[in-house]
Order: sequence, then C-alpha cells, then structure tokens
Amino acid sequence: GSESKLQLVHKHIRAFPDFPKKGVLFRDICPILKDAAALTAVIDLFEEHVRISHQQVDLIVGLDARGFLFGPLLAQRLGVGFVLIRKKGKLPGATVSVSYDLEYGKAEAEVQEDAVAAGQKVLIIDDLLATGGTLYAACELMRKQQAEVLGCMVVIELRELNGIDKVKPHSVFSLVQY
Ligand code: AMP
Repeated sequence: GSESKLQLVHKHIRAFPDFPKKGVLFRDICPILKDAAALTAVIDLFEEHVRISHQQVDLIVGLDARGFLFGPLLAQRLGVGFVLIRKKGKLPGATVSVSYDLEYGKAEAEVQEDAVAAGQKVLIIDDLLATGGTLYAACELMRKQQAEVLGCMVVIELRELNGIDKVKPHSVFSLVQY
C-alpha cells in the first residue's frame, strides 16, 4: 500500500551535511534512482495523487535538473507530454524567461515559447521544495504563458523554510517532509 511505498522512498533519501556549502543539509535522491522499486514507488505515489486530485492534466512541466528525472516517467504514466523549464541559455528558439532570487544572487529560468498553449492545465514537478523560489519562478513562467497551474509536486519538502507560502496560491504536494 501507500504506507510501505512511502517508507521505501524515505529509506532511499540520504543527507549530506555542509553540501554544497557550509550549513546546508543536502537531501540526496540518487539512491531512489538507483533502486527500481523505490523509483517505481515515487511514480506510483505521484500518479495516485494526480488521479485523486486532478481531473484533466494536459502537461507535466519539470524543473532543471532533478525535475527531469521524475517528470517524464510520471507523464508517461498519465499519457501526457513533458515540458522542460531550463536554466537560462540552454533552450533553442524563442523562449520566455523569468528571473528569481536565490539564496545569494539571482537566476533565470526559461521555457520555449511554443511549449505550452494558453489554457493548458499543467502540473509542475521538482525533486525538492526549499525556499520555494524555484517553484514560484516556474509558476510565473506558466502564468506568462497563460497556462493553468493545477499544482506542484515534489519528492521532498523542507518544512522549516516555509516554501509552501512562497508558492501560494498554488498547492505543493510532497511525499516526504523534513
Ligand atoms: P528553492 O528554490 O529554495 O525551493 O530550492 C529548490 C531547488 O534547490 C530544488 O531544485 C532543489 O534541487 C535544490 N535544493 C535546495 N535545497 C536543497 C537541499 N537541502 N538538498 C537538496 N537540494 C536542494
């Protein structure tokens, strides 16, 4: 059942103190990818959530880079397409971009202009919610494209950073919380 799948996911997340810099406890999802059952469990749980919570989904939109690991698998399960949001300068052709705040400095995220049509219903996916800046930027990009954001999904939510508030009014569904 869902409970044992969640336990399996939980067991395959490692923590590395002071990575990539001092004071950060990095949550590493690589062991999930390495274990076929754990990866299947993640996609099963996401699929279950989508089927219960969302009637019609047109596209899964994944964030650079670890959103690319889970997004296409979920999209295939749902029988829908996958769209990439990338860091600036990686996507060819006409793009729409948004700049957002990082802990130190700024970053820019982009999507191809023709990737999403006005009115399409999208779900945004990434590996982890920290401050929420990244998911907020993704929601902004979708707003610029006049897409309808149904919600966001992550494997891991870091609760103490209150990223959920930053992404409001959009919801963030997570499998594991710390
Ligand atoms: P934020 O924009 O602050 O919500 O950060 C989310 C992005 O940064 C995600 O794409 C994560 O992959 C990455 N990230 C932030 N904090 C961590 C952490 N403690 N462990 C692993 N990845 C993190």
